Amino acid sequence: MILKENQPLAPLTTLGIGGPARWFAAAEQEADVGEAAAWARARGVPLFVLGGGSNLLVADAGFDGLVLHIRLRGMAVIEDSNAGRLYRAAAGESWDEFVTRAISENCAGVECLAGIPGTVGGTPVQNVGAYGQEVASVIERVRAFDLEQNQFVEFTPAECGFSYRRSRFNSTDRNRYVVTHVEFRLRPGGAPTIVYPDLQRAIGGSGAAERVPSLAEVADAVRRIRRAKGMLLVEGDADCRSAGSFFKNPVIATDQFRKMFGTESAPPSFPAGPEMVKVPAAWLIEHAGFSKGCTLGAAAISSRHTLALVNRGGATAAEILALAGRIAARVEDRFGIRLEMEPVMLGFP
Ligand SMILES: Cc1cc2nc3c(=O)[nH]c(=O)nc-3n(C[C@H](O)[C@H](O)[C@H](O)COP(=O)(O)OP(=O)(O)OC[C@H]3O[C@@H](n4cnc5c(N)ncnc54)[C@H](O)[C@@H]3O)c2cc1C
Repeated sequence: MILKENQPLAPLTTLGIGGPARWFAAAEQEADVGEAAAWARARGVPLFVLGGGSNLLVADAGFDGLVLHIRLRGMAVIEDSNAGRLYRAAAGESWDEFVTRAISENCAGVECLAGIPGTVGGTPVQNVGAYGQEVASVIERVRAFDLEQNQFVEFTPAECGFSYRRSRFNSTDRNRYVVTHVEFRLRPGGAPTIVYPDLQRAIGGSGAAERVPSLAEVADAVRRIRRAKGMLLVEGDADCRSAGSFFKNPVIATDQFRKMFGTESAPPSFPAGPEMVKVPAAWLIEHAGFSKGCTLGAAAISSRHTLALVNRGGATAAEILALAGRIAARVEDRFGIRLEMEPVMLGFP
């Protein structure tokens, strides 16, 4: 394991913001994870696991600990049976490359998750989801190093505790596990999932609606929608210098929702479990008086997507947080709903 000091972190994040890591190492094989953990433990240094840096805001002062950059590679089919095709992918693989491979091998289950940046290992952490699919529905097993017990462990999906943008890895067991491999069970020749209205419209517009569209057509449509919203990483596109959605869509009790909004002024809502509904945070933000493109210093709301806060060039973490704080305060004031931030904060007190 090669240890570096004062490694800049901003270039390793999609926001491009933040100071350096006091210590930095890359894990290229599983043994490196145990070695880094032992190094940090022996010195009483906090350890942070970095994937693709696409769901991360690093503090301007950086992180006074060890950042372990997950670069484990490898992707293979390990079983093909009536139950589906089982892929095993190392945590450092690009998620979008995994999706591309699955689609080229005509396997359904992740087509709506095309174009999400970051690594395979990052996907179970916040149970990534988009356009009607969540990674939880295809995960078969997660292998991870337990920093407390100093050993490798494996989790079934039930043990991962998945729900909307949540798992044990970002809640009850935050910072305890380093994911090294994930197994995904996909459906060879399966039909694509086309439940999301935006996606249905895009497929309809492409003329593919009269027959069952192929997985590749659905993934292409997802990428087109993402690109239009600045939610696809495209070189030179100022609107994608973000951490994706900065706020989660609040999930509230159906009763509370009815009391809060009259029938006429109600925002759209989507079922989210028994007696619960999910409310689009973008609607709340817009109706609290913020519009796309609104800026605070070099931090801004994306000009194409209200939920994404972007670095217009040279923005600081403090500016991003100030803008996020202003938005959350006004939404709470107006609707009594507290928005929760989606990206992980690193190096903040
Ligand atoms: C333009 C854009 C669009 C996006 N769209 C979506 C979307 O549609 N849906 C969605 O859900 N997300 C979306 N995101 C957010 C982000 O891409 C995902 O959350 C992604 O899975 C994060 O993975 P990462 O490897 O970049 O993790 P990082 O940002 O590096 O880390 C995020 C968290 O995961 C932890 N982590 C990462 N890897 C590991 C590992 N191997 N073991 C243990 N912990 C780990 C980190 O410690 C940290 O707590 C978007 C982001 C951007 C920039």
